[in-house]
Amino acid sequence: MLQVIARVPAKINLLLAVGPVRPDGFHELATVFHAVSLYDEVTGSSDDGVSVTLGGPYGTRAPDGDENLAVLAARALARRARPARPPGVRLGIHKEIPVASGLAGGSADAAGALLVCNQLWGLRLSDARLAIVAASLGSDVPFSLTGGTAVGTGRGERLRPVPVGGPLHWVLAFADGELSTPQVYRRLDELRAERSAPVPPPAVPDDVLAALAAVDAPALAGLLHNDLQEAALALRPSLSDTLRAGDELGALAGLVSGSGPTCAFLARDDAHAAALASGLAESGTCAGAVAVVGPAPLGT
Ligand code: ATP
Repeated sequence: MLQVIARVPAKINLLLAVGPVRPDGFHELATVFHAVSLYDEVTGSSDDGVSVTLGGPYGTRAPDGDENLAVLAARALARRARPARPPGVRLGIHKEIPVASGLAGGSADAAGALLVCNQLWGLRLSDARLAIVAASLGSDVPFSLTGGTAVGTGRGERLRPVPVGGPLHWVLAFADGELSTPQVYRRLDELRAERSAPVPPPAVPDDVLAALAAVDAPALAGLLHNDLQEAALALRPSLSDTLRAGDELGALAGLVSGSGPTCAFLARDDAHAAALASGLAESGTCAGAVAVVGPAPLGT
């Protein structure tokens, strides 16, 4: 039996600038996606229909039926590619990425399913055509197809790869429970409406790209920023304790990842990241912490 495996990394946003709401209801974004070495593994085997089974530490937290993003991805690919025979796949997902945590785990699984099915079904769709299907599934899915580091604009689906001169060391501090991305955006809109200040067009400053090219962690630390952080903290005030704990433990910087509730901390090197991860895990301010490295490539 033919079996194909894709390992797809989680992402953090080193910079997330959220612009005004567009007429289609989405916010215009400018972001720097950065894939880190925490992977979901998606396995596809030939079968008659499309199905999924989930395992791993977070396997019970994601939907195991037709709403699973990997199932939606496989079906979307089958519709677009129109192969001669309706193809099927049995997907297996080993979930190491926490669900609804701001790490784009669902997008990673969708991207993994696209990669696996493209190969399993012999479709030979180009990266560009896969990216079109990916964008129809969610704003973060095109980046999850590439890994590495990239500037994302539009809804986040228009990507430009960013060169990074070497490894960067991070700690992810997980929270108990989830945060809904739409709810965090709504809270941001409410906070902005209360202020009634104009929202500038989102942009990625050039010095962020320069710090990444030079792997200058102290410079990067001063530039990390997330426009969603205030809204995530308003919905989950305990995240302030996590950020403070990371700061007190000597992180170069810390921020909420995407829509949260995971917090990401920048470390000087791998030894510093390991010490920071154990300090955070023992701080009582998070559900667990792991040291990771970015930019992470896709794995097979
Ligand atoms: P994003 O920031 O891209 O919205 P996130 O990391 O905050 O993502 P996900 O883990 O992608 O959140 O989960 C978002 C929603 O998608 C959850 O409500 C979850 O139930 C649903 N979902 C569907 N399929 C999956 C999957 N394979 N893995 C995780 N979540 C999934």
